[in-house]
Amino acid sequence: MSDSKADFQRDTVLVTGSSRGIGEAIATRLAHDGFNIVIHCRASMDKAEALKQRLDERGAATRILCFDVADRAACKAALESDIEANGVYYGVVCNAGVANDGAFPALSGQAWDEVVHTNLDSFYNVLSPLVMPMVRRRKPGRIVTIASVSGLIGNRGQTNYSASKAGIIGATKSLAIELAKRAITVNCVAPGLIETEMIEDAPIDRIMDTIPLRRLGTPQEVAAVVSFLVSAESSYITRQVISVNGGLC
Ligand code: NDP
Repeated sequence: MSDSKADFQRDTVLVTGSSRGIGEAIATRLAHDGFNIVIHCRASMDKAEALKQRLDERGAATRILCFDVADRAACKAALESDIEANGVYYGVVCNAGVANDGAFPALSGQAWDEVVHTNLDSFYNVLSPLVMPMVRRRKPGRIVTIASVSGLIGNRGQTNYSASKAGIIGATKSLAIELAKRAITVNCVAPGLIETEMIEDAPIDRIMDTIPLRRLGTPQEVAAVVSFLVSAESSYITRQVISVNGGLC
């Protein structure tokens, strides 16, 4: 991290699901890049507060929002009140997500709904209150969504998760077209198998054979790509899906 706060760009980026895992790494990297960070979680307030403390100690300006991204009214209320109080965001990283796997014949309606509401509905729930204020800001902006290799090629036991992530990819590409004339880029990062709590129960040994680089990815390797897509240097990149998957495809 830079020694001087004066070196920082002072634009703000919201990172949903940044209490842990990939979102935590993205928030950390973007704070390092010089952005104000809106940390977000649903339940892990203790982890969000610990991250805030770590980033603040290193000179970042951060705050925490806590809401369920599947709850449309809660998203609208929290986001509208935050931008009213603190100003409109330059960037949004839609990272919060869940998996609830099971072979399709045994997959419960609850598992389908939980994953689709959390991963796909959240695209609307989080971005709908933010997009018009970002447009009215009349400056370049950045939206990055986090999909998955599972949304591109499918995966055994993940019909719900694959559907939600494929939906995110389609929504990202359409929104990119709509916002292009406003200089707001909208891109998607599709990770492969990344070492976080989410994959604790995954059959890693079976999947490892399909990863040419023969290892799991790290949250920091995903964050590096998000960092580029949020930066000013990525200004001519929009409507793209960038995979970070060790060659798994
Ligand atoms: P983790 O389970 O480690 O972290 C999930 C994060 O999302 C947490 O911050 C959690 O908040 C938040 N979250 C989950 N559900 C909700 C909700 N309903 N409302 C608000 N916040 C919520 O997951 P990862 O870091 O591994 O995954 C991050 C993203 O990357 C997800 O979208 C995932 O689908 C995607 N991904 C992950 C891969 C992997 O191998 N790990 C591979 C491909 C994609 P809290 O702590 O409060 O519960």
